[in-house]
Amino acid sequence: MANVNLKHVTKKFEDKVVAVADFNLDIEDKEFIVFVGPSGCGKTTTLRMVAGLEEVTEGEIFIDGRLVNHMQPKDRDIAMVFQNYALYPHMTVFENMAYSLKLKKIPKNEIKASVYEAAKLLEIEHLLHRKPKALSGGQRQRVALGRAIVRKPKVFLMDEPLSNLDAKLRAQMRTKISKLHQQLQTTFIYVTHDQTEAMTMGTRIVVMKDGYIQQMDSPQRLYEKPNNLFVAGFIGSPQMNFREVMVEKFGEEIYLKFGKSSIKLPYEKAKKLEELNYLGREVIMGIRPEAIFDQEIYLDSLADCVVEAEVEVVEMLGSEILLNVKIEGTDFIAKVDPQKQVKVGEIIKLALDPGKIHIFDKE
Ligand code: ADP
Ligand code: MG
Repeated sequence: MANVNLKHVTKKFEDKVVAVADFNLDIEDKEFIVFVGPSGCGKTTTLRMVAGLEEVTEGEIFIDGRLVNHMQPKDRDIAMVFQNYALYPHMTVFENMAYSLKLKKIPKNEIKASVYEAAKLLEIEHLLHRKPKALSGGQRQRVALGRAIVRKPKVFLMDEPLSNLDAKLRAQMRTKISKLHQQLQTTFIYVTHDQTEAMTMGTRIVVMKDGYIQQMDSPQRLYEKPNNLFVAGFIGSPQMNFREVMVEKFGEEIYLKFGKSSIKLPYEKAKKLEELNYLGREVIMGIRPEAIFDQEIYLDSLADCVVEAEVEVVEMLGSEILLNVKIEGTDFIAKVDPQKQVKVGEIIKLALDPGKIHIFDKE
């Protein structure tokens, strides 16, 4: 159990590549924090600095209130789980899990108790006598987790631990790791490039790009109030729809205009845009697929927000339909009712819920 604090942490490689830039983060005890972002954004480097596997160029890292910048990894009371498991092939599962405790000269009966306890938690008791080559990918990953658990670390660090598993197993292990976090009541720092993994597991998510933190928030806040275009596009599946629009005022109302279409904004949103001096400017409108409606009741009540859309692809997902449409020359995805009867090539009317429209500066 521990909190972890990163203060102005920067990492430069060979004095050139800035892998992590002025990273500030206070992780509370028992938090499940996720670092997410595209490949190369600095997730692994940050994690390795916390682990002590990489030197900090500037700034300070504290674990449980202690400055660890110059502390050896083994003295930091952390355990790290990697993507490629890194099990010892010649040892059995039991020996793999017992290894670090053996090095610490823990008495044999205690080691046995710890390994059995962790094995029970991970449901791998029946595999303890096997060698890694006789295990499936999912089982190996459980052993790797077991090896970390037996050490009872203050902080668990996980770097894309599920990347090598197939989709179904990955979803199962996601739940398993979330449960483990509840059972162990320990701080977890989890790295992934997969936004679904981040959204489903993290109590707080740090979205990174090019070494910089873009936003740090709960999954819900990230989804509903993305700070910028990058976060808006990265979080959510299918992706938020984007389109360049003009902000124009007619009489007392403010509209977003694009092509022949225009969307009237609700009072609060309109006022805010006016205050921010957006009138007469080109901005990016963002709208999530589920904020686009096709039903008559909505089309009526949102008459000022109806646009024409040409249906290009219809994807039936059982509980919903994903419509790929063209609106004023731009591709949009709308999530609509599975009962909806639509044909490719058809021109339909859709309402863009103006209360759920996001406005971003053009970059
Ligand atoms: P991520 O885990 O988010 O994919 P990394 O932390 O591995 O990103 O890398 C961040 C940046 O630092 C990348 O540009 C990468 O090329 C660079 N980098 C990582 N490790 C080294 C290294 N040992 N030497 C030089 N550059 C590195
Ligand atoms: Mg990485």
